Amino acid sequence: MTTVEAPASHLRENPYEIAKQQLRKVAQTFAIDDNLVNVLQECKKAVVVSVPVSMDDGATRVFEGYRVTHNIARGPSKGGIRYHVDVTLDEVKALAMWMTWKCALSGIPFGGAKGGIVCSPKQMSEGELQRMTRRFTSEIINEIGPERDIPAPDVGTDGRVMAWIFDTYSMNKGHSVLGVVTGKPLTIGGSLGREEATARGALYCVREAVRKKQMSLAGTRVAVQGFGNVGSYLARFLTEDGATVVAVSDSTSGLHNSNGVDVAAAIAHKRETGTLEGFRGADAISNDDLLLLECDVLAPCALEQVITEDNASQVKAKIIVEGANGPVTPMADDILEDKGCLVLPDILANAGGVVVSYFEWVQGLQEYFWKEAEVNAKLNDIVTRAFNETWAVQRVAEPTTTRGIYP
Ligand code: GLU
Repeated sequence: MTTVEAPASHLRENPYEIAKQQLRKVAQTFAIDDNLVNVLQECKKAVVVSVPVSMDDGATRVFEGYRVTHNIARGPSKGGIRYHVDVTLDEVKALAMWMTWKCALSGIPFGGAKGGIVCSPKQMSEGELQRMTRRFTSEIINEIGPERDIPAPDVGTDGRVMAWIFDTYSMNKGHSVLGVVTGKPLTIGGSLGREEATARGALYCVREAVRKKQMSLAGTRVAVQGFGNVGSYLARFLTEDGATVVAVSDSTSGLHNSNGVDVAAAIAHKRETGTLEGFRGADAISNDDLLLLECDVLAPCALEQVITEDNASQVKAKIIVEGANGPVTPMADDILEDKGCLVLPDILANAGGVVVSYFEWVQGLQEYFWKEAEVNAKLNDIVTRAFNETWAVQRVAEPTTTRGIYP
């Protein structure tokens, strides 16, 4: 008998502990009442379900699924569903808490939630994915709903998965419920601009940051880790703004070209083959080395905890834009701050997705759909305002913590 070794998780630290630690740090800086912190550091509700699925080979496999609501003080809870082999309940709790802060910072009327299923979606057929999604939706059907909790895509899920959730929920209710899920395909009530929204929001943040640092995007050298929904669009938008994308990567391979990777061609290659592997016109680079490249802007757009206390001191970028959720650990944050590296935090930098999800939800409830230019302009307003508010808060918070409390 051969034993198959489970691949090591990408999570080195417990993300929920990190999220709680970040909350306590902010609470200390702003003298927030301990009693409130005690409430905010817990998740309001966590549902664990088993999801039996008939596989194509006739076997039945049982997957574990989660849906967590962190907080609903500002409105229904909102957040994506992640399909990944490393998903844990504590990871989903951390991601749910980050959604609460993200929605609040953007000023949209939602609380935070997240869901996930422990699975390897790339190794599953379309039929298996569909059966798993529909059964998972049935298991959490009393948790979700347009006024209650509204899922969306995240790592390993997309518009197709959202369409199955929408259909399963609607079939059970007996009519179409557009507001139950966002990130839907355009043909069934999705919003123009939603697919590109997370990257577009990150682009607007980078534009503001570059302006504050009196730099210009033209000629700026950028490295992008992750070539899924966020990374691929961000690389494209930055190129269109005149930046030189010197490296991109996905989970299987990385590409480096100091004269600039042809991003449009890389996107076409990935669309055709499903991977960046085999793309010509660039040298191979590992995901670890990409993070340490000589560049101005580094965009980790894949998974959590890629910049840690082990590699933070070797990062050369002047600006890090957190396209992923939680890519920089708190210890790495401190090291980067000491080095003068500006980190645009995930709850700001990748909020574009949930902001346009909010627009999709509003459009669905009104059954009235907007033009793409309108969506993008409204997104720009929200992200730019949130950026400037964060900038102002940081200006006050930094000297306050440095000076300490008198006496
Ligand atoms: N999964 C995305 C995020 O982490 C989008 C969530 C949403 O649109 O509700 O922000």
